Amino acid sequence: MKVLVIGGGAREHALCRSLSQDPAVTELHCAPGNAGIAQVATVHPVDQLDGAAVLALARELAAELVVVGPEAPLVAGVADPLRAAGIPVFGPSAEAAQLEGSKAFAKDVMAGAAVPTARSYLCTTAEEAAEALDAFGAPYVVKDDGLAAGKGVVVTADRTAALAHAAACMTVTAERPGGGSVVIEEYLDGPEVSLFAITDGTTVLPLQPAQDFKRALDGDAGPNTGGMGAYSPLPWAPEGLVDEVLDTVLQPTVDELRRRGTPFSGLLYAGLALTSRGTRVIEFNARFGDPETQVVLARLRTPLAGLLLAAANGTLAALEPLRWDEGAAVTVVVAAQGYPAAPRSGDVIEGLEKAETADGTVHVLHAGTREQDGLVLSAGGRVLSVTATGADLAQARERAYAGVAEIRLEGSQHRTDIALRAAQEAAAS
Ligand code: AMP
Repeated sequence: MKVLVIGGGAREHALCRSLSQDPAVTELHCAPGNAGIAQVATVHPVDQLDGAAVLALARELAAELVVVGPEAPLVAGVADPLRAAGIPVFGPSAEAAQLEGSKAFAKDVMAGAAVPTARSYLCTTAEEAAEALDAFGAPYVVKDDGLAAGKGVVVTADRTAALAHAAACMTVTAERPGGGSVVIEEYLDGPEVSLFAITDGTTVLPLQPAQDFKRALDGDAGPNTGGMGAYSPLPWAPEGLVDEVLDTVLQPTVDELRRRGTPFSGLLYAGLALTSRGTRVIEFNARFGDPETQVVLARLRTPLAGLLLAAANGTLAALEPLRWDEGAAVTVVVAAQGYPAAPRSGDVIEGLEKAETADGTVHVLHAGTREQDGLVLSAGGRVLSVTATGADLAQARERAYAGVAEIRLEGSQHRTDIALRAAQEAAAS
């Protein structure tokens, strides 16, 4: 099978790594890719948001499967011309990707499918926003209605800050032409879980749950980021969680989207809060999450290409049950100095080979890198995702941090507490 992956972050590196290990894959391509992806796939300098260019590349390569990684090309509709041309594509249509692209659309689908989520108001004026904030009380949750790479949400006890973010979300700018509205919702307490499911629009196959760390600094301090690390499995999660979420969230959502005439095929990501009043959806994403993908795929034993192709072709129901590594995986993101506000780039990265182990238990996935004159340079806020597997979380953690310790990147930052509490609790129980 000739496979083309669209994107150039650590999620796509993880996808490419797993695809390259699938014996069914005879050729692997990625656009635009990065310096790490170039080691396992042929990379092509094609604009991932340009549907016509992606289609032309897929045709030129005679791709038999195209996997669209990030949300931006999905929301921009890059999957649509591919599907129209009869090329199997893993990733939803532009219409179905609105599940991630518009919080208001997602809330509407959840209401239609009776999926438990935070109560919310869609506001278009400062007066409405103020009323909504007062209706729920502190802590306040204020969300940009459009795509914001995980950074459009402010959770704060400060009413003035909440109002200021609401005003910013409602301002229409050149970068945010879809602005004009803001979602204000009730605060959800309790731990968060990311649960991914592969779906062909009818059948839904949940993957293993993971947890990510959104805040920049240890102890969940600092600003929200795209994600600073992740681990899987979750030894503390209640038994039956995956089945419950399949029955109450994932299957009803997929059924509702099909009923509306916007069938969703690809990866449905449920961001959940396990609150004192039950499981609630915080958000949906229309693609693999980054960095959770790094740990989920590190544990998946079922060959990836066949799984994604079955989703693209509508034949998931015929697939064997998924197979998983019984152990654990941890990934630690190495970010550039200044991330998330003003990351610096163009610095030389050293120690990449030393960080990895020959048996693959530690592997370095590139998030934002590029190659120049034989050197690997930083080229993004999140630069690397050092991923390790082990018999349990403690061992996977230890290995991941041993890998991180080998990396040399001036001014870089990483959290030191990824999976720490879960590993300690698991060891104590
Ligand atoms: P989102 O982009 O919707 O995933 O939000 C980013 C992060 O903000 C989530 O992972 C949560 O940590 C936090 N968040 C979002 N919505 C809520 C909510 N209703 N209650 C509490 N925290 C939230």
